[in-house]
Amino acid sequence: MKTAAAEQGVSLFLISAFRSLQYQHDLIAGKLRKGRSLEQILAVNAAPGFSEHHSGCAVDLGTTDCDALVEEFENTEAFQWLEENSGSFGFVMSYPRDNPHGLVYEPWHWCYQPSSI
Ligand SMILES: [Zn+2]
Repeated sequence: MKTAAAEQGVSLFLISAFRSLQYQHDLIAGKLRKGRSLEQILAVNAAPGFSEHHSGCAVDLGTTDCDALVEEFENTEAFQWLEENSGSFGFVMSYPRDNPHGLVYEPWHWCYQPSSI
């Protein structure tokens, strides 16, 4: 998918993919230590065992003209390209605005679901 985007002059790269249970645990524990409430944390990070990143099918994507993992990603050429082309590669956006999981909008988080093709 990255190559197909590049052929059309769109920069797209992988920020993060598979995460283990331990990693997800440490990520949340680290934020708790910094004084964030569990409620705040779970609005942006799934609890260990519930992250799509455990499945190995989820990817966080980035592009050169935007900071990593920010909502402004939706205004990039890369996001436009994903909206138009990701479906033919079997990728769907997991957490669109007002998603039923109660997680914040993540325009950078896509999941490989071949059955969606
Ligand atoms: Zn993600």
